[in-house]
Amino acid sequence: MEHDFGTSQTGSITPRVNTAEIWKIALEQVQLHISPQNFSAWFKNTSLSGIDNGIATISCPSSFAREWLDSNHHKLITSILQKILQQDIEVLFAVGPSQQDSGASPGTDRYETMAISPDEAPIFNIEFTHQSQFEESQNRAFLNPIYLFENFVVGSSNRLAHAAAEAIAETPGRLYNPFFLHGGVGLGKTHLSQAIGNRVLNNDPNKKILYCSSETFLNEMVESIRNGKTTEFRQNYRKLDILVIDDIQFISEWQRAQEELFHTFNILYQAGKQIIFVSDRPPKQIENLMDRLRSRFEGGMVADISTPDVELRTAIVRQKAQEKGILLPDDILDFVARSVDDNIRELEGALIKIDTHVRISGEVPEEADVARILEVDAASKRRKTSPRDLIQEVCATFGVSIRDIRGKRRTADFVVPRQVCMYLLRKELELPLEQIARELNRSDHTTVLHAIERVEAKMEEDADFKDRVGEVKV
Ligand code: ADP
Ligand code: MG
Repeated sequence: MEHDFGTSQTGSITPRVNTAEIWKIALEQVQLHISPQNFSAWFKNTSLSGIDNGIATISCPSSFAREWLDSNHHKLITSILQKILQQDIEVLFAVGPSQQDSGASPGTDRYETMAISPDEAPIFNIEFTHQSQFEESQNRAFLNPIYLFENFVVGSSNRLAHAAAEAIAETPGRLYNPFFLHGGVGLGKTHLSQAIGNRVLNNDPNKKILYCSSETFLNEMVESIRNGKTTEFRQNYRKLDILVIDDIQFISEWQRAQEELFHTFNILYQAGKQIIFVSDRPPKQIENLMDRLRSRFEGGMVADISTPDVELRTAIVRQKAQEKGILLPDDILDFVARSVDDNIRELEGALIKIDTHVRISGEVPEEADVARILEVDAASKRRKTSPRDLIQEVCATFGVSIRDIRGKRRTADFVVPRQVCMYLLRKELELPLEQIARELNRSDHTTVLHAIERVEAKMEEDADFKDRVGEVKV
């Protein structure tokens, strides 16, 4: 990748940076600080129109939005941009045309929900691109074409969910119905559920699919009641071949919507149509849910996506880097995968942040730079300790030599510390299983898995042993 850097009159670097990318990262950060409603209402159709001599100009869709943003979010935006750009920034708001699709960063579900909330259209002139597509074809509904099976990386934490999703996409309505997919934030639920829709449409463009959030379902229901159009509302949902409702956990807040959904469900189900629910928690943990709805949710296949292990994170980081044309050395990519450990959306954000840094500084960052950019603790144990150091510490704690630990002898004196090494290399350094096997001179990774289980079990039953493991300085 070629970086193109220019120099301004003041002598400071004025890179021709990709403002759309920067704004996308900034928006991801903004979302962490304000409510989804506010975010949708005020940041839609904003863009970063330029950075010049330390002045960042944010273009807003209306003077109303400009004033509101200026008086309410000036500080927040300034500090976020300063962090991203690592320089002093003054922020100005201006009314102007939004640049391309800058507001609609992929992967931000809120936009997807937003696009079908007609209430807000008059104020901000939201473009109903998806909606018009839907009207034209009557089939494709609010699916983001970037969410595909082809770019979904499979690992142990999502293997089952992925297999089920793929099977459903090939024979919708037959195998697992309903499909209830749950898991924490940013772990790929929306991606996977939309991949089903995209695959189905790819196989048969005549299929009628709707992807929506439970909020949309509610809003449309309320709207239809207000306009006396409940029949149309029902027909719209009930004629579908596939219905995907995301963030279904929110349905519990509205009794009436639950009832409506229950009937819609029954009709679709009896007609052999596929229903997919996506939630941040399993049906059992959704409070205030009608029993009969809960039992429907549980009546098909319930699958979860759990937090990704380091192998999966590494694979995802590498794939995303490739997808986005980000060229960073493997050790830096691996460092990112090790440092950002619980959310794939953040992993992506981290990657983009580093890439932006590279574009601005023109230098390939060192691990310490990356740590600073990501605001992870560079001195934190996990990142500093080498596998060698860790093994040495275990040896010191258990009074054995490295040679013994890496050797063949299988007496308890050696086996136990050897297993502790494997356990800590995994838990603290999050090394891939294969690498752990190599570090300890073992032939394959099943030995490592076994060792981890043994140590966990032993720690549970033997408090002294647990303390000893805890004493190892990592
Ligand atoms: P959720 O709906 O669970 O909150 P998303 O589906 O929106 O999460 O995923 C967040 C981001 O992470 C998206 O950009 C998505 O493409 C990406 N992502 C999640 N899991 C994977 C995966 N297994 N492979 C590739 N990208 C993934
Ligand atoms: Mg989601």
